[in-house]
Amino acid sequence: MQQVDIITAKERLSHENIAYLLSLKGPEKIRLFEIAASIKEQFVGNKVYFRGLIEFSNICDKNCLYCGIRHDNTHVKRYNLSDEEIYSAARYACENNYGSLVLQSGELETFGFVRRMEKLLQGIHKTTNNKLRITLSCGEQDKDTYRRWYENGANRYLLRIESSNPLLYQKLHPGDNRHNYHRRLNCLYDLQATGYQVGTGVMIGLPFQKINDLADDLLFMSRFDIDMIGMGPYLEHADTPLYASREELLPLEERFQLTLKMIAVLRIMMKDVNIAATTALQSIDKLGREKAIKIGANVIMPNITPGKYRDDYLLYQNKPCTDENAEDCKTCLEARIALTDHKIAFGEWGDSIHYQRRQ
Ligand code: SAM
Ligand code: SF4
Repeated sequence: MQQVDIITAKERLSHENIAYLLSLKGPEKIRLFEIAASIKEQFVGNKVYFRGLIEFSNICDKNCLYCGIRHDNTHVKRYNLSDEEIYSAARYACENNYGSLVLQSGELETFGFVRRMEKLLQGIHKTTNNKLRITLSCGEQDKDTYRRWYENGANRYLLRIESSNPLLYQKLHPGDNRHNYHRRLNCLYDLQATGYQVGTGVMIGLPFQKINDLADDLLFMSRFDIDMIGMGPYLEHADTPLYASREELLPLEERFQLTLKMIAVLRIMMKDVNIAATTALQSIDKLGREKAIKIGANVIMPNITPGKYRDDYLLYQNKPCTDENAEDCKTCLEARIALTDHKIAFGEWGDSIHYQRRQ
Protein backbone atom coordinates (compact mmCIF):
# COMPACT_ATOMS: atom_id res chain seq x y z
CA MET A 1 0.00 0.00 0.00
CA GLN A 2 1.35 3.42 -0.92
CA GLN A 3 1.61 6.31 1.55
CA VAL A 4 -1.13 8.14 -0.38
CA ASP A 5 -3.57 5.26 0.28
CA ILE A 6 -2.78 5.28 4.01
CA ILE A 7 -3.23 9.03 4.37
CA THR A 8 -6.41 9.33 2.32
CA ALA A 9 -8.05 6.49 4.30
CA LYS A 10 -7.85 8.56 7.51
CA GLU A 11 -11.09 9.98 8.87
CA ARG A 12 -9.54 13.43 9.32
CA LEU A 13 -6.57 14.84 7.45
CA SER A 14 -4.05 16.93 9.39
CA HIS A 15 -2.42 20.05 7.98
CA GLU A 16 0.72 17.99 7.41
CA ASN A 17 -1.24 15.27 5.55
CA ILE A 18 -2.87 17.83 3.25
CA ALA A 19 0.41 19.59 2.49
CA TYR A 20 1.92 16.19 1.66
CA LEU A 21 -0.94 15.33 -0.74
CA LEU A 22 -0.73 18.73 -2.45
CA SER A 23 2.96 18.14 -3.12
CA LEU A 24 2.52 14.76 -4.85
CA LYS A 25 3.90 14.20 -8.32
CA GLY A 26 4.08 11.31 -10.81
CA PRO A 27 2.39 7.96 -10.00
CA GLU A 28 1.41 9.03 -6.46
CA LYS A 29 -0.44 12.04 -7.83
CA ILE A 30 -2.27 9.79 -10.30
CA ARG A 31 -3.19 7.51 -7.39
CA LEU A 32 -4.55 10.54 -5.47
CA PHE A 33 -6.76 11.36 -8.46
CA GLU A 34 -8.01 7.76 -8.65
CA ILE A 35 -8.95 7.75 -4.98
CA ALA A 36 -10.77 11.10 -5.28
CA ALA A 37 -12.62 9.87 -8.39
CA SER A 38 -13.86 6.76 -6.61
CA ILE A 39 -15.00 8.74 -3.54
CA LYS A 40 -16.85 11.10 -5.83
CA GLU A 41 -18.56 8.21 -7.63
CA GLN A 42 -19.59 6.73 -4.28
CA PHE A 43 -20.94 9.90 -2.62
CA VAL A 44 -22.24 12.17 -5.40
CA GLY A 45 -22.34 9.82 -8.40
CA ASN A 46 -21.38 10.57 -11.99
CA LYS A 47 -23.84 13.41 -12.60
CA VAL A 48 -22.74 16.87 -13.67
CA TYR A 49 -25.06 19.75 -12.78
CA PHE A 50 -25.30 22.77 -15.08
CA ARG A 51 -25.65 26.30 -13.68
CA GLY A 52 -26.29 28.89 -16.39
CA LEU A 53 -23.95 31.79 -15.60
CA ILE A 54 -25.10 35.36 -16.27
CA GLU A 55 -22.34 37.92 -15.75
CA PHE A 56 -24.92 40.66 -15.62
CA SER A 57 -22.76 43.69 -14.80
CA ASN A 58 -19.05 44.53 -14.61
CA ILE A 59 -19.63 47.72 -12.63
CA CYS A 60 -17.72 47.42 -9.36
CA ASP A 61 -16.95 49.75 -6.49
CA LYS A 62 -13.99 47.69 -5.31
CA ASN A 63 -10.36 47.48 -6.27
CA CYS A 64 -9.12 43.94 -5.60
CA LEU A 65 -5.51 44.02 -6.80
CA TYR A 66 -5.88 40.88 -8.98
CA CYS A 67 -9.13 41.56 -10.81
CA GLY A 68 -9.41 42.87 -14.38
CA ILE A 69 -12.75 44.61 -13.77
CA ARG A 70 -11.62 46.46 -10.62
CA HIS A 71 -13.04 49.95 -10.26
CA ASP A 72 -9.85 51.82 -11.16
CA ASN A 73 -9.21 49.95 -14.41
CA THR A 74 -10.23 52.68 -16.83
CA HIS A 75 -9.69 50.43 -19.88
CA VAL A 76 -12.85 48.49 -19.09
CA LYS A 77 -16.03 49.33 -21.00
CA ARG A 78 -18.67 49.10 -18.25
CA TYR A 79 -22.02 47.40 -18.91
CA ASN A 80 -25.18 46.46 -17.09
CA LEU A 81 -27.63 44.04 -18.72
CA SER A 82 -31.21 45.25 -18.97
CA ASP A 83 -33.87 43.39 -16.98
CA GLU A 84 -35.22 41.93 -20.24
CA GLU A 85 -31.77 40.64 -21.28
CA ILE A 86 -31.51 38.89 -17.90
CA TYR A 87 -35.01 37.39 -18.14
CA SER A 88 -34.31 36.19 -21.65
CA ALA A 89 -31.09 34.44 -20.49
CA ALA A 90 -33.04 32.91 -17.56
CA ARG A 91 -35.68 31.58 -19.97
CA TYR A 92 -32.91 30.10 -22.10
CA ALA A 93 -31.59 28.22 -19.03
CA CYS A 94 -35.10 27.03 -18.20
CA GLU A 95 -35.95 25.93 -21.75
CA ASN A 96 -32.69 24.01 -21.93
CA ASN A 97 -33.35 22.29 -18.59
CA TYR A 98 -30.34 23.71 -16.77
CA GLY A 99 -32.04 23.57 -13.37
CA SER A 100 -30.05 26.50 -11.94
CA LEU A 101 -28.85 30.01 -12.66
CA VAL A 102 -25.91 31.97 -11.28
CA LEU A 103 -26.17 35.77 -11.31
CA GLN A 104 -22.72 37.31 -10.94
CA SER A 105 -21.55 40.93 -10.95
CA GLY A 106 -19.11 43.45 -9.56
CA GLU A 107 -19.83 44.64 -6.05
CA LEU A 108 -22.23 47.50 -5.37
CA GLU A 109 -23.91 48.15 -2.04
CA THR A 110 -26.24 50.94 -3.12
CA PHE A 111 -29.94 51.02 -2.23
CA GLY A 112 -30.79 50.93 -5.97
CA PHE A 113 -28.73 47.78 -6.55
CA VAL A 114 -30.24 45.97 -3.57
CA ARG A 115 -33.76 46.84 -4.72
CA ARG A 116 -33.07 45.92 -8.35
CA MET A 117 -31.85 42.48 -7.31
CA GLU A 118 -35.06 41.91 -5.35
CA LYS A 119 -37.15 42.76 -8.38
CA LEU A 120 -34.99 40.64 -10.67
CA LEU A 121 -35.32 37.63 -8.37
CA GLN A 122 -39.11 37.96 -8.38
CA GLY A 123 -39.16 38.50 -12.16
CA ILE A 124 -36.93 35.50 -12.93
CA HIS A 125 -39.06 33.16 -10.81
CA LYS A 126 -42.18 34.50 -12.50
CA THR A 127 -40.91 34.20 -16.07
CA THR A 128 -39.56 30.66 -15.47
CA ASN A 129 -42.50 29.40 -13.34
CA ASN A 130 -40.24 28.82 -10.32
CA LYS A 131 -38.37 26.10 -12.18
CA LEU A 132 -34.86 27.37 -11.42
CA ARG A 133 -32.68 27.48 -8.33
CA ILE A 134 -30.89 30.84 -8.21
CA THR A 135 -27.34 31.42 -6.97
CA LEU A 136 -26.10 34.96 -6.38
CA SER A 137 -22.49 36.07 -6.53
CA CYS A 138 -22.66 39.82 -5.87
CA GLY A 139 -20.05 40.22 -3.17
CA GLU A 140 -20.21 41.57 0.38
CA GLN A 141 -23.54 42.97 1.55
CA ASP A 142 -25.09 43.60 4.94
CA LYS A 143 -27.09 40.88 6.67
CA ASP A 144 -30.41 42.57 5.97
CA THR A 145 -29.69 42.61 2.23
CA TYR A 146 -28.78 38.92 2.26
CA ARG A 147 -32.09 38.25 4.06
CA ARG A 148 -34.13 40.30 1.59
CA TRP A 149 -32.59 38.51 -1.40
CA TYR A 150 -33.12 35.13 0.26
CA GLU A 151 -36.77 35.94 0.95
CA ASN A 152 -37.18 36.94 -2.68
CA GLY A 153 -36.00 33.60 -3.96
CA ALA A 154 -32.19 33.42 -3.95
CA ASN A 155 -31.24 29.93 -2.71
CA ARG A 156 -27.47 29.86 -2.89
CA TYR A 157 -24.65 32.40 -2.54
CA LEU A 158 -21.07 32.28 -3.74
CA LEU A 159 -18.50 34.41 -1.91
CA ARG A 160 -14.92 33.31 -2.22
CA ILE A 161 -12.75 34.00 0.79
CA GLU A 162 -9.95 34.28 -1.86
CA SER A 163 -7.37 33.23 0.75
CA SER A 164 -8.03 32.10 4.31
CA ASN A 165 -4.70 33.62 5.41
CA PRO A 166 -5.49 37.19 6.59
CA LEU A 167 -1.94 38.36 5.83
CA LEU A 168 -2.04 37.04 2.29
CA TYR A 169 -5.55 38.49 1.89
CA GLN A 170 -4.10 41.88 2.85
CA LYS A 171 -1.42 41.63 0.17
CA LEU A 172 -4.10 41.00 -2.48
CA HIS A 173 -6.29 43.97 -1.56
CA PRO A 174 -5.92 47.69 -0.91
CA GLY A 175 -5.52 48.39 2.80
CA ASP A 176 -8.81 50.20 3.35
CA ASN A 177 -12.16 49.49 5.06
CA ARG A 178 -13.81 48.24 1.88
CA HIS A 179 -11.36 45.35 1.57
CA ASN A 180 -11.35 43.77 4.97
CA TYR A 181 -10.73 40.07 5.60
CA HIS A 182 -12.88 40.00 8.75
CA ARG A 183 -15.82 41.61 6.99
CA ARG A 184 -15.64 38.98 4.23
CA LEU A 185 -15.53 36.21 6.81
CA ASN A 186 -18.49 37.70 8.68
CA CYS A 187 -20.45 37.84 5.42
CA LEU A 188 -19.96 34.08 5.08
CA TYR A 189 -21.32 33.60 8.60
CA ASP A 190 -24.29 35.88 7.82
CA LEU A 191 -25.07 33.90 4.65
CA GLN A 192 -25.00 30.64 6.56
CA ALA A 193 -27.19 32.04 9.33
CA THR A 194 -29.72 33.35 6.78
CA GLY A 195 -30.23 29.85 5.39
CA TYR A 196 -28.40 29.92 2.05
CA GLN A 197 -26.46 27.05 0.55
CA VAL A 198 -23.11 28.76 0.96
CA GLY A 199 -20.26 28.54 -1.50
CA THR A 200 -16.74 29.81 -1.12
CA GLY A 201 -13.33 29.23 -2.65
CA VAL A 202 -9.85 30.53 -3.21
CA MET A 203 -7.50 31.39 -6.04
CA ILE A 204 -4.66 28.93 -6.48
CA GLY A 205 -1.10 29.83 -7.46
CA LEU A 206 -1.24 33.44 -6.24
CA PRO A 207 2.00 35.34 -5.80
CA PHE A 208 3.33 34.90 -2.21
CA GLN A 209 1.03 31.87 -1.64
CA LYS A 210 2.64 28.74 -0.15
CA ILE A 211 1.50 25.10 -0.02
CA ASN A 212 0.84 25.64 3.71
CA ASP A 213 -1.64 28.43 2.84
CA LEU A 214 -3.52 26.10 0.49
CA ALA A 215 -3.61 23.37 3.14
CA ASP A 216 -5.08 25.94 5.55
CA ASP A 217 -7.64 26.95 2.89
CA LEU A 218 -8.92 23.37 2.68
CA LEU A 219 -9.08 23.09 6.47
CA PHE A 220 -10.96 26.41 6.54
CA MET A 221 -13.61 25.08 4.12
CA SER A 222 -14.03 21.92 6.14
CA ARG A 223 -14.22 23.77 9.49
CA PHE A 224 -16.71 26.25 8.05
CA ASP A 225 -18.89 23.35 6.88
CA ILE A 226 -19.22 24.90 3.44
CA ASP A 227 -21.78 23.46 0.96
CA MET A 228 -20.29 24.41 -2.41
CA ILE A 229 -16.79 25.27 -3.56
CA GLY A 230 -15.46 27.12 -6.61
CA MET A 231 -11.66 27.19 -6.73
CA GLY A 232 -9.59 28.12 -9.74
CA PRO A 233 -6.08 29.07 -10.73
CA TYR A 234 -5.09 32.73 -10.36
CA LEU A 235 -4.46 34.17 -13.81
CA GLU A 236 -2.75 37.48 -14.30
CA HIS A 237 -4.18 40.59 -15.97
CA ALA A 238 -1.80 43.28 -17.23
CA ASP A 239 -4.06 46.15 -16.11
CA THR A 240 -3.98 45.20 -12.43
CA PRO A 241 -1.49 46.08 -9.65
CA LEU A 242 -0.79 42.39 -8.90
CA TYR A 243 0.68 42.03 -12.39
CA ALA A 244 3.85 43.64 -11.00
CA SER A 245 4.41 40.44 -8.97
CA ARG A 246 4.18 38.08 -11.97
CA GLU A 247 7.82 37.01 -11.54
CA GLU A 248 6.74 35.27 -8.32
CA LEU A 249 4.22 33.05 -10.12
CA LEU A 250 4.39 29.31 -10.73
CA PRO A 251 4.31 28.31 -14.40
CA LEU A 252 0.73 27.89 -15.71
CA GLU A 253 0.92 24.09 -15.91
CA GLU A 254 1.94 23.91 -12.23
CA ARG A 255 -0.93 26.18 -11.21
CA PHE A 256 -3.23 23.90 -13.18
CA GLN A 257 -1.94 20.71 -11.54
CA LEU A 258 -2.10 22.31 -8.10
CA THR A 259 -5.75 23.23 -8.73
CA LEU A 260 -6.57 19.64 -9.70
CA LYS A 261 -4.86 18.40 -6.52
CA MET A 262 -6.82 20.92 -4.42
CA ILE A 263 -10.07 19.61 -5.94
CA ALA A 264 -9.08 15.98 -5.38
CA VAL A 265 -8.03 16.52 -1.74
CA LEU A 266 -11.16 18.55 -1.02
CA ARG A 267 -13.36 15.77 -2.43
CA ILE A 268 -11.59 13.32 -0.11
CA MET A 269 -12.12 15.64 2.88
CA MET A 270 -15.67 16.79 2.07
CA LYS A 271 -17.30 13.91 0.30
CA ASP A 272 -20.83 15.27 -0.25
CA VAL A 273 -20.25 18.92 -1.24
CA ASN A 274 -20.76 20.43 -4.69
CA ILE A 275 -17.48 21.37 -6.36
CA ALA A 276 -17.37 23.51 -9.51
CA ALA A 277 -15.03 22.92 -12.43
CA THR A 278 -14.23 26.61 -13.01
CA THR A 279 -13.75 28.42 -16.30
CA ALA A 280 -10.25 29.56 -15.30
CA LEU A 281 -9.10 25.92 -15.54
CA GLN A 282 -10.09 25.92 -19.18
CA SER A 283 -7.94 28.97 -19.95
CA ILE A 284 -4.85 26.93 -19.13
CA ASP A 285 -5.91 23.58 -20.57
CA LYS A 286 -8.66 23.19 -23.19
CA LEU A 287 -9.87 20.06 -21.37
CA GLY A 288 -9.34 21.60 -17.93
CA ARG A 289 -12.94 21.44 -16.76
CA GLU A 290 -13.39 17.85 -17.96
CA LYS A 291 -10.21 16.84 -16.10
CA ALA A 292 -11.59 18.45 -12.93
CA ILE A 293 -14.90 16.61 -13.38
CA LYS A 294 -13.11 13.29 -13.63
CA ILE A 295 -11.23 13.75 -10.33
CA GLY A 296 -13.81 15.33 -8.05
CA ALA A 297 -15.84 18.28 -9.41
CA ASN A 298 -19.56 17.84 -10.19
CA VAL A 299 -20.77 21.29 -11.31
CA ILE A 300 -20.17 23.27 -14.52
CA MET A 301 -21.33 26.81 -15.20
CA PRO A 302 -22.00 27.27 -18.93
CA ASN A 303 -21.86 30.97 -19.74
CA ILE A 304 -25.25 32.25 -20.93
CA THR A 305 -24.34 35.96 -20.86
CA PRO A 306 -25.21 37.53 -24.24
CA GLY A 307 -22.06 37.17 -26.39
CA LYS A 308 -21.62 40.91 -27.03
CA TYR A 309 -20.80 41.60 -23.35
CA ARG A 310 -18.33 38.80 -22.74
CA ASP A 311 -15.21 40.68 -23.82
CA ASP A 312 -15.95 43.20 -21.09
CA TYR A 313 -16.00 40.70 -18.19
CA LEU A 314 -12.30 39.93 -18.40
CA LEU A 315 -11.20 39.10 -14.86
CA TYR A 316 -7.95 37.78 -16.31
CA GLN A 317 -6.33 37.57 -19.72
CA ASN A 318 -7.15 34.80 -22.23
CA LYS A 319 -10.55 34.11 -20.68
CA PRO A 320 -12.03 31.36 -22.86
CA CYS A 321 -15.28 31.41 -24.89
CA THR A 322 -15.65 35.21 -25.03
CA ASP A 323 -16.43 34.94 -28.76
CA GLU A 324 -19.28 32.46 -28.20
CA ASN A 325 -22.96 32.64 -27.37
CA ALA A 326 -25.09 30.51 -25.03
CA GLU A 327 -25.90 27.91 -27.69
CA ASP A 328 -22.20 27.44 -28.62
CA CYS A 329 -21.34 26.90 -24.93
CA LYS A 330 -24.10 24.33 -24.50
CA THR A 331 -23.20 22.32 -27.61
CA CYS A 332 -19.51 22.40 -26.81
CA LEU A 333 -20.01 21.31 -23.17
CA GLU A 334 -22.41 18.52 -24.06
CA ALA A 335 -19.85 17.09 -26.48
CA ARG A 336 -17.05 17.40 -23.94
CA ILE A 337 -18.96 15.78 -21.10
CA ALA A 338 -19.99 12.94 -23.38
CA LEU A 339 -16.26 12.18 -23.63
CA THR A 340 -16.03 11.64 -19.88
CA ASP A 341 -18.06 8.84 -18.29
CA HIS A 342 -20.47 11.40 -16.80
CA LYS A 343 -24.06 12.43 -17.49
CA ILE A 344 -25.46 15.95 -17.48
CA ALA A 345 -28.29 16.06 -14.94
CA PHE A 346 -30.72 18.03 -17.09
CA GLY A 347 -33.78 19.34 -15.26
CA GLU A 348 -32.35 18.71 -11.78
CA TRP A 349 -31.56 21.40 -9.22
CA GLY A 350 -28.57 19.53 -7.90
CA ASP A 351 -28.71 20.98 -4.40
CA SER A 352 -25.64 20.27 -2.31
CA ILE A 353 -26.13 16.97 -0.45
CA HIS A 354 -23.97 18.44 2.28
CA TYR A 355 -26.45 21.31 2.71
CA GLN A 356 -29.38 18.90 2.92
CA ARG A 357 -27.59 16.95 5.66
CA ARG A 358 -26.53 20.17 7.45
CA GLN A 359 -30.16 21.35 7.52
N1 SAM B 1 -17.63 40.74 -7.16
C1 SAM B 1 -17.96 39.50 -6.59
C2 SAM B 1 -16.89 39.04 -5.65
O1 SAM B 1 -15.76 39.51 -5.74
O2 SAM B 1 -17.19 38.18 -4.81
C3 SAM B 1 -18.25 38.42 -7.62
C4 SAM B 1 -17.56 38.55 -8.93
S1 SAM B 1 -15.81 38.29 -8.87
C5 SAM B 1 -15.33 38.72 -10.47
C6 SAM B 1 -15.74 36.50 -8.86
C7 SAM B 1 -14.40 35.87 -8.58
O3 SAM B 1 -13.49 36.11 -9.65
C8 SAM B 1 -13.64 36.39 -7.37
O4 SAM B 1 -14.13 35.83 -6.19
C9 SAM B 1 -12.20 35.99 -7.69
O5 SAM B 1 -11.80 34.81 -6.99
C10 SAM B 1 -12.24 35.69 -9.19
N2 SAM B 1 -11.15 36.44 -9.88
C11 SAM B 1 -11.01 37.76 -9.98
N3 SAM B 1 -9.85 38.05 -10.61
C12 SAM B 1 -9.25 36.88 -10.91
C13 SAM B 1 -8.03 36.52 -11.54
N4 SAM B 1 -7.18 37.45 -11.98
N5 SAM B 1 -7.73 35.20 -11.67
C14 SAM B 1 -8.59 34.26 -11.23
N6 SAM B 1 -9.76 34.53 -10.62
C15 SAM B 1 -10.09 35.83 -10.45
FE1 SF4 C 1 -14.98 43.73 -7.87
FE2 SF4 C 1 -15.30 41.09 -7.36
FE3 SF4 C 1 -13.38 42.00 -9.05
FE4 SF4 C 1 -13.12 42.44 -6.43
S1 SF4 C 1 -13.14 40.42 -7.47
S2 SF4 C 1 -12.77 43.95 -8.06
S3 SF4 C 1 -15.23 42.80 -5.86
S4 SF4 C 1 -15.57 42.13 -9.33
